[in-house]
Amino acid sequence: MIKYKLKCKNCSLLFDSWFASSKEYEKLKRKNYLNCHSCGSINVEKTLMAPKLLNKSWKKSVYIREPKNQKVYEKIKKYQKFIKKNFEYVGENFAYEARSIHYKNKNKKKGIYGTASKEEIKDLKEEGIDTVTIPWVEDKNN
Ligand SMILES: [Zn+2]
Repeated sequence: MIKYKLKCKNCSLLFDSWFASSKEYEKLKRKNYLNCHSCGSINVEKTLMAPKLLNKSWKKSVYIREPKNQKVYEKIKKYQKFIKKNFEYVGENFAYEARSIHYKNKNKKKGIYGTASKEEIKDLKEEGIDTVTIPWVEDKNN
């Protein structure tokens, strides 16, 4: 996942957007799928700021019991595979672990993911700890 700061050339609004990759950004841009959160103009461009890679904190969020849309389900499963491979699972200690990394510069090679309540995420945000909520499906056989 890559975060870009996008700028609207129409109203000068700056806003952050997440993309699966720089390629995905280019694709969406080319198809005019990117638009300004404020005025709706498609005249938006990423600023020259270096993309920020997500490496600090993750949380599980949506539990989809019976996905109606198989394509969405498959996509989520793919994300999960990526996350499981590249991030360390910390379960319900997510908020604690995220703070450890943020405040104590705790050395972790991998980013973390786990579960957190809405309140915890809100608190983390107020403390300047950015997290990303991603859809999550549970395997039926575990
Ligand atoms: Zn705008």
